[in-house]
Amino acid sequence: MKDKTRKKEGFPRLLELAGNKKSKLMAACFLAVLSSAAKMVPFFTVYGVITILLSSYNDVQGMDGSRILLLTGITLGAALTYGLCSYASSALSHTAAYDIIYELRIRLIEKLGKLPSGFFTGKTQGGIKKILSDDTEQVEIFVAHHLCDIAAAIATPVFTLIYLFIMDWRLSLITLLPIVISIVLLVMCLVKPDKAALQVEMHDSQEAMQGTIVQYIHGMPVIKVFNRSLSAFKRYESDIDRFVTSVEKTAKANAWPMSFYYAFFGAQLLFLLPSSTYILLNADSYIGYLPIVLLFLLVGTGLKEPMENMMQMVILSGRINEGVKRMDNILYEKELPSGNAAMPANFDVDCDNVSFSYEEGTQAIKGLSCELKQGSVTGLVGPSGGGKSTLAGLILRFYDPQEGIIKIGGTPLPDYSPETLSRLVSYVFQESFMFNDTIENNIRMGNKEASLDQVISAAKAAEIHDVIMALPNGYQSILGENGVYLSGGEQQRIAIARVFLRNTPIVILDEATAYADAENEAKIQRAFANLAKDKTVLIIAHRLKTIENADCILVMKDGHLIGQGSHEELLITCNEYKEMVDANDRRDRWNIKRKEVLT
Ligand code: ADP
Repeated sequence: MKDKTRKKEGFPRLLELAGNKKSKLMAACFLAVLSSAAKMVPFFTVYGVITILLSSYNDVQGMDGSRILLLTGITLGAALTYGLCSYASSALSHTAAYDIIYELRIRLIEKLGKLPSGFFTGKTQGGIKKILSDDTEQVEIFVAHHLCDIAAAIATPVFTLIYLFIMDWRLSLITLLPIVISIVLLVMCLVKPDKAALQVEMHDSQEAMQGTIVQYIHGMPVIKVFNRSLSAFKRYESDIDRFVTSVEKTAKANAWPMSFYYAFFGAQLLFLLPSSTYILLNADSYIGYLPIVLLFLLVGTGLKEPMENMMQMVILSGRINEGVKRMDNILYEKELPSGNAAMPANFDVDCDNVSFSYEEGTQAIKGLSCELKQGSVTGLVGPSGGGKSTLAGLILRFYDPQEGIIKIGGTPLPDYSPETLSRLVSYVFQESFMFNDTIENNIRMGNKEASLDQVISAAKAAEIHDVIMALPNGYQSILGENGVYLSGGEQQRIAIARVFLRNTPIVILDEATAYADAENEAKIQRAFANLAKDKTVLIIAHRLKTIENADCILVMKDGHLIGQGSHEELLITCNEYKEMVDANDRRDRWNIKRKEVLT
C-alpha cells in the first residue's frame, strides 16, 4: 500500500532527500561556478594581450608592458582560484554525497525493518539489493560528481555569452547557433514519449537480473548435485537477455539525436570561422576587429566542456529519476498501523472469523476462528498448503487479515506497538537464519541485554550447550563463512535458545521435518518441551506424534479449520485427521519393515 502524500519526484526529490546537506551542496555548486568562471579568465586575458600587441604593432617601444604583466598576474590568479575552488567544491560535494547515501541507506534499512513481511512477497533479494546499493550509489555519483558540473555547465555559458554579446552581438548569435541546435536535440531525447518507459524497463530488468544472480548463488548446491551448468539455469540467461535488450533499446532510441548532438555541440568553429572571416574582411578597422575575432574563436571552443557536462546530466537524469522513484517506493510504503496498548493481563490468542489472501482471487485463510488458551499447547496440522504458516504469520502480524480480527489478551493486534508485540510473541522458524557472527551473538539476537550466563542457560535449555562447548572456540566460534557450520537441527536449537532469551509468553514453533535423525529429533523435542512450559504455545507439526498430547489440535485444509479438539476427540470427529494418523502409522510400519530388510 502506497502513501499518497508523495509530491516531489526526480531532481527536486533528490534535493529534498539531501535534507540538511543542502547548504553544503549549494556552497559546492557556488564554488564550482567560481572555478569554472576562473577557467574562462585566460581566454579574456589572452584577448587583452592580443589587443595590446596588435595595437602597438607599429610602435613596439610604446607597448604597455605593465598591462601585459597585470594580465599575466590575473591569469595566474585565475589558475590559482580555479585550483582552490574546484578542490573545495569537490571536497564539499563528496563529503555531502557520502553523508547523503549513508543517511539514505540507514533510512531505507530502518524502513525495511518496519515494513510488514507482506511487502517482501514477490520481491527478490537482488531487487532490494539493487535499490539499497546501486540506486543509492547513483545518487552519490550524481551529487558528488555531476551536480556541481551542472551548476557550472549552466552558469559558465550564460556569463560568457553575456560578455560576448557586449563585445559583438553578431558573432555571439553565431556562437549560440550550434548550442541552440544541441539543446533542441537534447530536448528531443528528453521528451520522447517512450523514454520513461524505457528507463522503467531498464531498472526492472536490472532488478530481475540481480535477483536471479542471488537465487543462482543460493541454488548452487542443487545445481551442483544435478551436475547442471549455468546454461541450465535458463532464467538467468533470459534475464540477462532482457537487460541487454532494454539497454540496446535505450541506446538506439537516443542514437540519432545524440550523434547529432555530439556533432554540433563542439561545432562553434564550423560556424564561426567563415562568418568571422567575412565580418573581419568587411570591418572598418582590420586590426581593431581582429582581437574580437580571435576572442570568439578561443571562447567558442572553450564552451565545449560545459556543454559536454550538460549532456552527461541529461543521460544521468533519467536514471536518477527512476532510481529515486524506486527508493521512494520503499520510503513511502505504509507501515502497518499500530497503537500503544499496554501488555495484556492474560495471553490468550483469539482469532475471530479471520480471512486472508496474498493475492486477489485466492484465499489462503477463509473465515477461521480459534482460540489458543494461555498456558496451553495447541498443535496445528493439515496437508501442505492448508494455511498453517499463514495463520502463524497473521498471529505474528507479518500481515493483517483482510477480514476478521486477531486479539491477544482481548486486545486487537493493531492496538499494540511493534515493540510490545515482539515482547508478546516469538517464533522458531523451520529454517533458522544464522548470522555470520559468534554463537554468543547469534543467541543474543533474542535479547541484546542478556549476559553471557543468561546466553549459556538458554543454550542449555535448548540442548545445544554441549555442542557449542565441543567447538574449539566455544561460544566465540563464528558461524558461517570462514567459521564453523552447524547441522540444520543444531541451528534450530540455536534459534530455540534465542527464543528462551526472549522469554515471550506466546511462542509459535514450526517443527522442522528435515532433521529427522533420532538423536536430533529427541533433543529438539526436549528443547520444545522446556520452552513450552507455562506459555501459550502453537506448534505447526509435521509429525503427528509431536502433538498427540497437545491440549488442543487444530486441523487445517484449504484455508479452513476442519477439525478442533484433543487427539482422541479428533479420531472420532474428524475424518481427515484420522486418515492422516492412519497414513502416519502406515509410514512408521513401512519404516520398521525397511529397517528389518536392511539389517
Ligand atoms: P502450509 O503452511 O499449511 O503449508 P501456507 O500457509 O504456506 O500453507 O500456504 C497457504 C496458501 O497460501 C497456499 O496456497 C500457498 O500457495 C499460498 N501462499 C503461501 N505463501 C504465499 C506467498 N508469500 N505469496 C502468495 N501465496 C502464498
